[in-house]
Amino acid sequence: MSTSTLRIGLVLPDVMGTYGDGGNALILRQRARMRGVDAEIVQITLDDEVPDSLDVYTLGGAEDYAQRLATRHLTRYPGLQRAAAAGRPVLAICAAIQVLGHWYETSAGERVDGISLFDLTTSPQATRSIGEVVTDPVMPGLTDQLTGFENHRGGTTLGSDAAPLAKVRHGVGNGVGDGTEGVVQGSVLGTYMHGPALARNPQLADLLLARAMGVDSLAPLDLPEVDRLRRERLAAGRRG
Ligand code: GLN
Repeated sequence: MSTSTLRIGLVLPDVMGTYGDGGNALILRQRARMRGVDAEIVQITLDDEVPDSLDVYTLGGAEDYAQRLATRHLTRYPGLQRAAAAGRPVLAICAAIQVLGHWYETSAGERVDGISLFDLTTSPQATRSIGEVVTDPVMPGLTDQLTGFENHRGGTTLGSDAAPLAKVRHGVGNGVGDGTEGVVQGSVLGTYMHGPALARNPQLADLLLARAMGVDSLAPLDLPEVDRLRRERLAAGRRG
């Protein structure tokens, strides 16, 4: 944490934020505040340059056109790339995985260069993947199953520098037949799970928060409503 206030970057919510993905920043702020840590959300829109000094960054999903606008902006103002190079934690949801890769192909078959924070590429698949997802994490530090909602046409192939976040138990995930979901490369994490992902997966939220605060672990929070939401969503995913 660079100052006494934890600064959470919500990157381009004006173009990337389908299915309430902006909620991921709210969850980080709330879980910090519940531990007595002062925290604020810094919104970075298409009118702003991207700062490189925030403590943690979140990016949401988007439809193809909005995704292109975001890609152009992040390429023009490479603050996120500098932040990631400095080891600052970043969470990328769905379209943001694709934008942070080397390139992605839109549903119309156009190839767009990404910002290469992830060693991966994305191409449209024959069918759109829609529904609940349940996965078993493979990323060190995560033990709880992950749950979310996916809706994407793109299928993502990981390169050798990128590791999966999890193995799919129910649902599709990265969608190229290898059973993986999400991506981890250095301090940058990606998942196809909306939900918002951090509302449904408090262990993932606290992993990012601990990294943002520069501590090894955080005292657990006793939040029965969150546990109930998780149980419901995990059950829905198993049925789906
Ligand atoms: N447009 C991308 C796709 O369909 C991402 C969609 C999303 O973020 N929900 O693959």
